[in-house]
Amino acid sequence: MIKIKTFVSGILSNNTYLIFNDRSIDKKEGVIIDPTGCFASARQYIIENNIELKAVMLTHGHFDHVIDVPKWQRLGIRVFAHKQELFNLNSDRTILMLKSLNLPPITIDEELSEKNYVFEGITIDVLHTPGHTKGSCCFVVGNNVFSGDTLFFNSFGRTDFPDGDFNQMKCSLKKLFTFSEQDYNVFPGHEDFSSLNYERTHNPILMYF
Ligand SMILES: [Zn+2]
Repeated sequence: MIKIKTFVSGILSNNTYLIFNDRSIDKKEGVIIDPTGCFASARQYIIENNIELKAVMLTHGHFDHVIDVPKWQRLGIRVFAHKQELFNLNSDRTILMLKSLNLPPITIDEELSEKNYVFEGITIDVLHTPGHTKGSCCFVVGNNVFSGDTLFFNSFGRTDFPDGDFNQMKCSLKKLFTFSEQDYNVFPGHEDFSSLNYERTHNPILMYF
């Protein structure tokens, strides 16, 4: 049984997700997605609920999704991201922001590719979904999709960044809408949750298909 805890932070309403299993009271393992601006509260929650954090997974490397990453890395938690996100993780803006918080640059411990990542009791299927950025990924966990800045409720991510591409975004959303026929809960990088069935019929990207 997978549980999802959401932490919201910042003026951009960024969502940090902690997913964890609770197979037994004594042993819970968790993975945190896009940790940003909620280190203290997330850490407190992890300690109080006796969760062993196994990994930090990044949907992409924009500064507003990665602020807490060095703090988790300092605690020995491994960071998983697509290698093309080094472009954003090493951008002047991100480096300067981390420096202003006395935090070191972010390194990738394991480069994501399209496969299953299994952390005791949690299986994460990675879909590479470029468009918002070159290395953007969506994570499928059970009947949930963590869509980063690729898919939003009734919307989709900007493609006007230096490594953004609208045609790639169209292909990625087609891929996301068709990788399975089932419905999935959608947990985006910002603001409201949605469902894949709703987005399959209402998302404004459909007018460009
Ligand atoms: Zn972004």
